[in-house]
Formats: sequence, structure tokens, C-alpha cells
Amino acid sequence: MKKLALHWRILIGMAAGVLFAVALTQFAWGKDFIVDWIKPFGTIFINALKLIAIPLILASLIKGIADLNNLTQLSKMGLRTISIYLMTTVLAVSLGLLIVNTVRPGAAVSEETRAQLISSYETQAGDRITAADKQKKSGPLKALEDLVPENIVASASSNGNMLQVIVFAIFFGIGLILIPADRAAPVKGFFTGLNDVVLKMIDLIMLAAPFGVFALLAAIIAEAPGADLFVALLWYAFSVVLGLGLLYCMYVGLVWVFTKRSPRFFLAGIAPAQLLAFSTSSSAATLPVTMERVIEHLGVDDEVASFVLPIGATVNMDGTSLYQAVAAVFIAQTFGMDLSLGTQLGIILTATLASIGSAAVPGAGMVMLVIVLAQAGIPEVGLALIFAIDRPLDMCRTTINVTGDATVSMIVANSLGKLGPPEEKNWDDRLDEVI
Ligand code: ASP
Repeated sequence: MKKLALHWRILIGMAAGVLFAVALTQFAWGKDFIVDWIKPFGTIFINALKLIAIPLILASLIKGIADLNNLTQLSKMGLRTISIYLMTTVLAVSLGLLIVNTVRPGAAVSEETRAQLISSYETQAGDRITAADKQKKSGPLKALEDLVPENIVASASSNGNMLQVIVFAIFFGIGLILIPADRAAPVKGFFTGLNDVVLKMIDLIMLAAPFGVFALLAAIIAEAPGADLFVALLWYAFSVVLGLGLLYCMYVGLVWVFTKRSPRFFLAGIAPAQLLAFSTSSSAATLPVTMERVIEHLGVDDEVASFVLPIGATVNMDGTSLYQAVAAVFIAQTFGMDLSLGTQLGIILTATLASIGSAAVPGAGMVMLVIVLAQAGIPEVGLALIFAIDRPLDMCRTTINVTGDATVSMIVANSLGKLGPPEEKNWDDRLDEVI
């Protein structure tokens, strides 16, 4: 029997989760029931994905770099990846500024609503401001300093240190290229095998994806704040979503123009990763699935995907940078501030850097937004204005972040002649082959 494609099963899981939560929250006990008995399954699913992120980065990046066989190839790929990532991020921030200045969502918020929003979310906004303060206090080269860990075991013990693990893996891979082939062979063999094992584990986890997203979405709906304040933020949300939608079209167009792959092919290949990004709000948790989809379903060579995607998940966040630009100007507008061209150009720079610095976890973009606000002289307490609607927007921007990474991996692979036909293993698409 031909099974339904994975993305359809995930979509059905999501819709069922929403309906289930809407129905149950009609009862007084509904919310507690979902939080106590359904949400943990969503957490288990996300944990399972996070569990393999570090082994995956280590195995795939070391194997990928060793496969390149020479350092010229590596620096060529590195340079292309970083330049394209930077270009798309600057483009995203500029697009965000263009939209927010045209739609002017801040003008739609009345004085009364502003006061109400600020008093409702002041405490939560305060927490984010404190978190951002810690980041701000560090010196200008702190981010660079943090790239090189002093102990790889300590770094690998937290998913928050993904960039350090990436640096170690690249360094290790370079060492592997430079030693004689006969000595390198067993080490390479080990990491190749490890990589295959991890990819198979992702297939297995993905079998549970429809159930995992069911639990995640049910919990999000059950725990959502009241809808009345949402309405005041409708134009703001519209501006962010419009920008993200345009970015989405841009990616599909870029894939088409540069790699000649049709939108249908691209979207069918990447859809499960997008749906997962939407359900988890975390590029890091989605990374294993993004890798698997890009390699097996979009035809990107694993040495390119294993380099471009982990770096992208941590530093390339176009959706986040667009959101930060829109949110900053929106807050300024609600406070009746008119931002000069110079300030807005400053926002392009700070939002680009802030999105690079944002961790690939839920809500991280909002913490870094504080830095954008501070640089532009916009009151940080304005964060409270956008709090109510941040989670749904986080879900949308994470989807775009992941799509952006996949797009760049295809373009880089194509430019290096490493984009081929997909090699679908179909494991995760057919349960009957597993058991
Ligand atoms: N949740 C986003 C991500 O993981 C980051 C953000 O908060 O914008 O990509």
C-alpha cells in the first residue's frame, strides 16, 4: 500500500493537534490535561531531535571536509557560503524596513492599547532585557573569542555551543586532510559509518513526527494567551508575515534561477523540515531533518550540506533579521518616534549582526532585538508591545530561516557541481520497510 507522503502526514498531525486543543480547552480541565498528558510527548520528540544534533554535526562535518580532499575546495565553499548568507540577510532586513515603512503598523495602535500591552507584558519583557544585557556587557570581540572552545567535551555537552563544535569539526577535518591517506582512512571510515547511523536515527525519529507535531501544536494552542490583544497587533503581524512571504517567494525563485529546480520539487523536498521548524520554533532542533531532506530529497552532496547547513542553522537567520527590523520600527512608530535614514541604515547593520548572534532556539530573536532597539535609541520596554504575538511569528520566521539555509545549500552545491539527482531512501516515508 502506498503511504501518504511525509509532509501530508505531518500536516494532518498539526491540524489534528490544533482541533484537539480547541475542542478540549472548551472544558475547564482541558488545558491542564493537555499540559500534563499531551505536551510531554512533544517535548520528547524535540529532545530526540536535539539529542542527535551534536553527533550529527561532528560526524557529517568531519566526513564532509575529509571527502573534499583539499583545502582549496574548502575555502572556496566557505567563502561562497558566508557571502551568500550575508547577502540574503542584508536583503531580508532591507525588505523588512521597506514593508514596515510602507504599511506603518505602529500608527494603528492607540495610546490606550499601548498602555495595556505594556502593563500586561512588562515582566516578561524585563526578563528578555536582562538576558540581552548580559550579552551587551561583553567586549566587542567576545563573539569571536567564544568561537574557539578550550575544551571540546565541555562544548559538546550543550547544544547552545553548536558553533564551537562546528569550529572543532572543521579544524579536525582539516587535520584529517593533511595527514597521509593510509592513516586517515580508518578515522574517515569511522565518521562515515557514524554519519550513516545518525541519518538512520533521524529517519526513525521522523516516523514519530506526525504524533510529535500533534502534541506540540496542541500545547501551543492550550497555552496561548487571550486573543483580544492580538487584534491590536494585526497590522504588525501582517507586516512581518508579508515580509516572510516575500522572502519565501524569493528563495523559491533563487532556487529556480540558479539551480533550475522547479518550485514543486524544492517545496516537496523541504516541506517536512519546514513543517517541523514551524512546530518547534527552533532551527537547531530542525537541523537533523533539514540535513536529511536536503541530502536525500534535494540532491545536495553531503559534503556541501554538512558544511552549509549547520553553519546556516546558527548564523543565517533571514526570517529573524526581517522580523527584528519590522519590530524595531513598529515599536518606534507606536511611541511616535520618526526614525531618520541614518538610524534605519544602522538597523540594517545591527539586525544583521543580531540575527547572526541569535541562538537557534524559540524566542532567541526577541532577546537579540533588545540590542537592535538599544542601538537605534528605541525604548526597550517596547518589547512588551509585541510579546503577545511573538510565538506565532517565531514559528513563521523559523520556517523561513530553515528554508533560507536549504536554498543556499542548493545554490552553493550547484556552483561547485555538487548538486545531483535526489537519492531518496524512503525510509521515513514508508513505515512498512522499517519493521
Ligand atoms: N526561533 C528562531 C530559530 O530557531 C530564532 C528566533 O527566535 O528568531 O531560527
